[in-house]
This record gives sequence, structure tokens and C-alpha cells, in this order.
Amino acid sequence: MPPTPTPGLHPGEHPGEHDRRAAEAALAGRLPAALAPLAAVAYNYRWSWVPGGARTFAAIDPDRWERCGANPVRLLLEAPAAALRRAAATPEVVRAAEDLAADLRADKARPSGPFACTPRAPAAFLCAEFAVHRSLPVYSGGLGVLAGDILKSASDLAHPTVGVGLLYRTGYFHQRIDTAGLQHEYWLDTDPDLLPAVRVTGADGAPVTVRVPVDDEDVVAQVWRVDVGRVPLYLLDSDLADNGPVGRWVTSRLYEANRSIRLAQYAMLGVGAVRALRALQIEPSVYHLNEGHPALAALCLAAERVAAGLEPEQAWAEARARLVFTTHTPVPAGNETYSRTELEGMLGRLADLAGDRERFFAMGRIDPSDAAQPSGLTAFALRASRSANGVSHRHGEVARRMWQPVLGGTTADDVPIGHVTNGVHVPTWLHGPMRHLLDRHLGAGWIHRSADPATWAPVAAIPAAEIWAARTEARAVLVDRLGEQATSDRLRRGEDLAYAEAAEHGFGPERLTVGFARRLATYKRLYLVAADPGRAMALLTGERSLQFVFAGKAHPSDAGAKDIVRRLFDLKGAALDAGTVAFLEDYDLALAAELVAGCDVWVNLPRPPQEASGTSGMKACLNGGLHLSVLDGWWAEAYDGTNGWAIDGAEDPDEAGQDRRDAAALFDLLEHQVIPEFHDRGDDGIPHRWVERIRRSLITNGPAFSADRMVRQYADEVYPPPGSERHGHGGEDDRFAMPWALGGDER
Ligand SMILES: *Cc1c(COP(=O)(O)O)cnc(C)c1O
Repeated sequence: MPPTPTPGLHPGEHPGEHDRRAAEAALAGRLPAALAPLAAVAYNYRWSWVPGGARTFAAIDPDRWERCGANPVRLLLEAPAAALRRAAATPEVVRAAEDLAADLRADKARPSGPFACTPRAPAAFLCAEFAVHRSLPVYSGGLGVLAGDILKSASDLAHPTVGVGLLYRTGYFHQRIDTAGLQHEYWLDTDPDLLPAVRVTGADGAPVTVRVPVDDEDVVAQVWRVDVGRVPLYLLDSDLADNGPVGRWVTSRLYEANRSIRLAQYAMLGVGAVRALRALQIEPSVYHLNEGHPALAALCLAAERVAAGLEPEQAWAEARARLVFTTHTPVPAGNETYSRTELEGMLGRLADLAGDRERFFAMGRIDPSDAAQPSGLTAFALRASRSANGVSHRHGEVARRMWQPVLGGTTADDVPIGHVTNGVHVPTWLHGPMRHLLDRHLGAGWIHRSADPATWAPVAAIPAAEIWAARTEARAVLVDRLGEQATSDRLRRGEDLAYAEAAEHGFGPERLTVGFARRLATYKRLYLVAADPGRAMALLTGERSLQFVFAGKAHPSDAGAKDIVRRLFDLKGAALDAGTVAFLEDYDLALAAELVAGCDVWVNLPRPPQEASGTSGMKACLNGGLHLSVLDGWWAEAYDGTNGWAIDGAEDPDEAGQDRRDAAALFDLLEHQVIPEFHDRGDDGIPHRWVERIRRSLITNGPAFSADRMVRQYADEVYPPPGSERHGHGGEDDRFAMPWALGGDER
């Protein structure tokens, strides 16, 4: 089908442009003239990763900026007139506003890069969550951060991309912990009219809507547009009066516990995305399914071809040619499956649109010919897409082994699943003193060349004193925040005053600071830290004591993970005296940014091989933190003996034995290597071996785990259609172009 140009749009513009302009103009009209340029800046998240963006908004009204959750539209709507007038009379603020607006215009005017995807035929990136910024609460954790970083990097590289997701009206849960260590959850409502988002309308001025058949209701959704630099992110929202109560609930919560609602969300995300892009006259050259949640896009594409008169066989083949799939879940239990009854109830009508309900159900089964098996989205996505990849070298191996029953192949090595290792968006995650240091030493514009190893070579020559000064400052900033937040967390929890106040004074800006913050899934094994209380206590109270910072949320229905938080709180006895352990509540993007910037050591203890990649350690390394991790996920390909510390990553069916061994290895490393090296100071007071490890970590990890490297890899190796000139893999090594087993009888 030839791409349809969207009428009335200039190069670099996307559907919803007039809505954004109208919102911008309305906002600008409320501002003093000197601040009017900020309206455009506020409606594009590019401000959040360019220098001076956050600082400029905060300068208008620092208190309100915090209370608005750093949402610039709300800030400008809610700041008192006096604050706006004061800012408009401050030359630095006015100049910064003009510079930010000019930078945004210039960035949008750049031509697209030389990629297989073009502005008329972009990549459509579909995901259940996007972590773009803390003020847009449509994310839970790692998957969302990856998706957000991919959009930002695509924008920086001028790779033609559009994102599609859901606008959750209550997002993901927030967390409180009580004095016994029990997690409590609550949800906050989001008012989309106060977000930096615009409701997309059509030529008739009415909101663009899509309809998705779910159960016996046609659920209607409207479309919001959020700008992430040059990349538009379209978010579907079914909270409309036209829908019944169930239809309205579909886009309410991220990772909703109700299984039927989850199926409805998958239908809305996958089918809704394809229909929304159609309605907006965007014709993607490739649909990138990020994890299985949006996989029903395949069903929709096949249904369109069936409606055009094709046989189902041919229709699914044509759909497959446009789909690529990234799997993120090496844990079988994480790949949920549904019974036939569940699927027929919610998705039966949809399945019929693609001509053959049985084919759809069969594609989701491990063995398509066994009608008794449940169906899952991962198996379905693997069969429905022309290429599949894991998210680290090791995860690629694990995924090939895991999905051999679905994709065939004589040995696991033949299974057509490749890997593109995750990365992190450097301008988003590199902060404060370390950013300033690298800006001074790596040359102008280095941040746009972060994927090139040569960019990082000058790190070898940065004087130890400068690196150490930057690290010392970064740690001090964190320790300050730590004291504040730990104290207020404890007061809110109702702890006694002495314990609350210990948090304020207990943490030391010079003390070795060890961080562990991530989703509290059982396989991440945070409990290993508390496995040997005697040894942990010695580390926390000894002469060369260290301080531990923890954070993370357990999924509301994951009792095992919640118990981990409780067990950590058993360390409180020691902490009460020393004041050197903190569990910070409500882990989110903002807290993550502070922790990865300030911690000296970042710990990860997954049970191998269950960590597909992990990305928080990459963020810590960018900031001069050192990674101490089980050799799983990204660390298995990153660790070289000089750039951090490692714990053996072998698989072991004896989980209890593995836990004991790995806990011992963790404490051995801390006691015998990490602590001595941190305290091994030269006459200048600098730990030179430690600083050298930081240099090695920056030089090796900086380029390899930059999101720019990852996005280029998707652009060059995954998105181009097989056989095309730009296809990165060729000849015999061409995993991505291998023919796919389709369904039952063809296997
Ligand atoms: C980076 C990040 C994650 C991912 O962390 P892992 O290392 O994959 O566990 C999760 N949540 C937030 C808020 C993050 O910023």
C-alpha cells in the first residue's frame, strides 16, 4: 500500500499539529509576553533532556515546580501572577526561555537521518508503558524506561518514529510502607487536561476516535499526543462517556490485576494502535512490538487484509512482513497465558475479523495442534512477526532455548531470535557533577556521539582529583536528599522520633554508599542482602562502615515480593543505632535519577538467567558509580574484570544453595575488595585504584550501553525489510530473515 501523505502538514510535523498549536497559543496567552516562548517548550518533553530546561521552569516558582511534579504545563497554569511577572523581569530566565524555544524549533527543522524508515513511512513503536518523565505517569519500571529512552534517542538521531501506548487515568500504584514493613498501595487520578498532552482532533474539529471490539462492547478511545522531541507519542484513552463502565475502565490502570481487563487493554493497545495510526493517516513501514502486550496489532493488520479480500493465510503473511518483536521476559511465569474461554469471551469477535478464530488461538499456543493448551501473547507475537530479538546477548541465548518449541530449529542456536542489548538515554540519565566533568573533557557535542567508543577515550586522561571531586560532590547531593526523604518517610510511617531523626544525621557524605533499587520481583533477590544479618550488621556498624539505600515496588498481587520488603525491615535494629540503612518509598523516575547519580556502588542480584537486561546499572555507570552484579543480563557482556565487580552467573537448580553462595559472594566482595579499595587512599586522599575502575567503567560501558547505539541497531538491523539494502544482517548469519513457522500444519 503506498504511504499516504498527511494533508496540510509540513516535513517534521505530525497529525495533531494544529491541536498542539492551539494548546500552545492558549497557554502563551496567559503568560507575560517575555515568557510566551515557554509555552512551546512546555508542550515538548525535549526540555527535560537539554541543559537548562528543568532549571528554567524551576526558577519561576521552585516550590510549585515540585508540587506540580515538574509538569511545566501545570506550573505555567498554576503559578501565581506575581511569580510569572518576577520571572518575566529576570533577564536570565527570559534569555533561557528564548534559547530553549529556539533549540526546539531548530531541532524539529533538522532533516531525518539516513535510515530505512522515512518520515512518510516511520517506525511505529508500540508499548504498554512509556517512562518519558515523572510528570507523565504512564509507566511502572524498566520496560517503560526503555521505551521512553528509545523515543528520546530516536528523536536525537532523527530516526522517523511514532510511539503508541495507552493513557492510564490512574497510572501505576504509589507505595507506602508501614512500620512493620508491609507495603500499601494507592492510586492517584491524572487529569489529562493538565498534562503536556493535546487531544487530537480531525478536520471537522471533533476528537479523533477509534473503536475496538472487546467482549460485546465496541470500546471507543480518543487519542492524545505527547511530544518527545521530534517523536510524537500517541496515547489512547477510553475514559469516555460513550463507553460503559467496563469500557471506561480499560485504560484506567497499568498492569491491572483483572485478567479480563488486561485482555481488553491488549486489544486496545494492539488493535487501537493500528486503527489510530490509520485514522491519523500515518502509514508505518514497520510496527515494533515492544514486549507481547501490543501483539494484537498483528491480528488487526491481518484483519485489514482479510477485509480487502485476501485469504487468511496470505493476510497473516502480509501482516507478518510489517511486524518486529522484542521479548523482555526470560521467566516463563512472566509470559502469561489465557484459556480458550477467557480469550473467546474478550477477544472472540476480534479474532473472527482475521477470518479464522482457530488460527488465532493456535498461534498463541506452544503446540498449535494441542487445543487443550492455553494461549499466550509471547508465542503469538513470535509467530506473528518477521523478526524477534531479546535484549542482551545472554537473553538472546535464553530466549532461543526457551522458545525453540514455538519456533522450531534443530538446535537452540538455529532458533531465529537475535538480540539487541538495551541501552540508556545518556542526556536523560547523566547528571550533575559527572555531566559537568565529562562536558569539560569530552569535547563539544560529545553527548550526541555517546555511542562512539572514541568519544570516551579522553576519560583515560582525566585527572584522578577531578573524577574524585565530582564523585564526592554527587554523593553529598544524594546523602542530603537521603536524609530528608528518609526522615519524612519515617515520620509519615509513624516511627518514633529518635529513629526518624537518625535518618537525618546518620548518613555521611564521605561514606561508601551502596544502592539497590528496582522492581521488587522475587528473582531480583534483594533478600540476599539481609540473608546474613550478622555480616550485614558488621558492614553497617564497623569502623569503615558503609551505608545502604534501597527502593522498589512489589507488584500488589506478588506476596513473595512484598515479604522481601518486610525482611529488609528486620535490618532496622542495626540501622536504628547507625542510621545507615534507608528504604526510600515510592521508587519512580525521579528517585531513580537521584540514586544512580549519587551511589558509589550499584548492586544487582538476579537469579540467573532471569534478568533479561537490566538498565539501572548502566545509568549508575554513566554517573561514575561502579556496578557489582551477578553475571546476568547486560552485565554478562559488559564485565571485563576491570570495570566493576561480578558474582558468578551460572544457572543452578538448587535455589537455596545458589542463594547461600551468592549472598556469601556479595559479602566477600564488599568486605575484601570494595571496602578496602574505597579506603585505599593516596597521600592526596584519593582512592586511585577506585578512580581507575571508574575510568574503565566509563570507557567500556559508556558507548556500549548508550541508547543511541541501541536505536541505531534497531534502525539498521531490525527495521529494514529482509533483503533490502539497508538490512544489517546478511547471508548466512541472517537470523532476522529466516522464514517463520506459521501455525499448526505448517510446522
Ligand atoms: C532504570 C529504571 C528501572 C530499570 O531497572 P533495572 O535495572 O532493569 O531493574 C526501573 N525503574 C525505574 C524507575 C528506572 O529508572
